[in-house]
Amino acid sequence: ADIAMYSAKDLGSGVCVYDVSLNDHSPERLGLLGQLRRAIDTGELVLHFQPKVALPGAEVCGVEALVRWEHPQRGLVPPADFIPLAERTPLIRPLTRYVLDAALEQCARWRDAGRVLTVAVNVSARNLLDEHFVEEVQELLARRRVPASSLELEVTESAITADPDRARRILTRLADCGVTLSIDDFGAGYTSLAQLKDLPVHQLKIDRSFVARMAAEPSNALIVRSVVELGHNLGLTTVAEGVEDEATCDSLGAMGCDVAQGYYVCRPMAAEPLEAWFDATVAV
Ligand code: C2E
Ligand code: CA
Ligand code: CA
Ligand code: CA
Repeated sequence: ADIAMYSAKDLGSGVCVYDVSLNDHSPERLGLLGQLRRAIDTGELVLHFQPKVALPGAEVCGVEALVRWEHPQRGLVPPADFIPLAERTPLIRPLTRYVLDAALEQCARWRDAGRVLTVAVNVSARNLLDEHFVEEVQELLARRRVPASSLELEVTESAITADPDRARRILTRLADCGVTLSIDDFGAGYTSLAQLKDLPVHQLKIDRSFVARMAAEPSNALIVRSVVELGHNLGLTTVAEGVEDEATCDSLGAMGCDVAQGYYVCRPMAAEPLEAWFDATVAV
């Protein structure tokens, strides 16, 4: 059912075009998957990093690693064009491993330079079904000599609802290692409050669809305020993603939201230009 839902776009005229990236048996899809498999080995996948700042005051507290594909013909390919495809195959496992390792390597480099930041990595549903994932995280933390407390893993609600019991077991083991766990895009999915209460997570990342239209739509501001309160009542920190202007940032601070991330603060960038931004902005 989900194949039909995601691969066919109804043009409103009864005509459907297939998104080649998601049609399971298309040669284009298989070709792209083969290229992606190679891209992991050849270093064509690169990480950009977007700062997260603590509110109020906007001191940089961490970065989120966001993958891009430097494709030799297509140029810089955004994750939306290949992550959903990879997530439908076992390839997401080596891909996540690659991103995790590269993010920790960069985190270690910054630590060596005296810049102590948390680094957040996005994790997919399949990673949470993989019994070896926890050992892999521990192995990479040890290899890069990064303390578990410097790593955040961002997990979407849908990744948990795929198999809640198994996800909870793996998340519990990760939390026991000292890794910080965030629910990404919170509010966009269907995590029941009962489920949330039983998950060993530390942080809620409020979906940017609510944050982006907070100023224009009072109901969105109300939702954001309620999530901040809910999070705090459950002992969780709250992060707003997609903060695009000063007014939004200010009202988030006034609501007591703990962390802001978005174009208003800084766009995602490669490590090197980001270092110039760090130097120009604040002493971390
Ligand atoms: P996400 O985890 O929700 O990441 C935030 C996305 O919002 C990023 O898009 C970021 O560039 C964008 N963004 C940041 N600030 C703003 C803002 O102020 N306004 C707007 N309109 N957008 C903003 P990006 O980098 O294209 O990533 C898209 C999605 O791809 C991510 O959404 C995440 O779900 C996925 N993704 C990215 N990197 C990885 C990865 O390494 N592994 C996995 N599994 N998924 C990834
Ligand atoms: Ca994320
Ligand atoms: Ca998000
Ligand atoms: Ca999102």
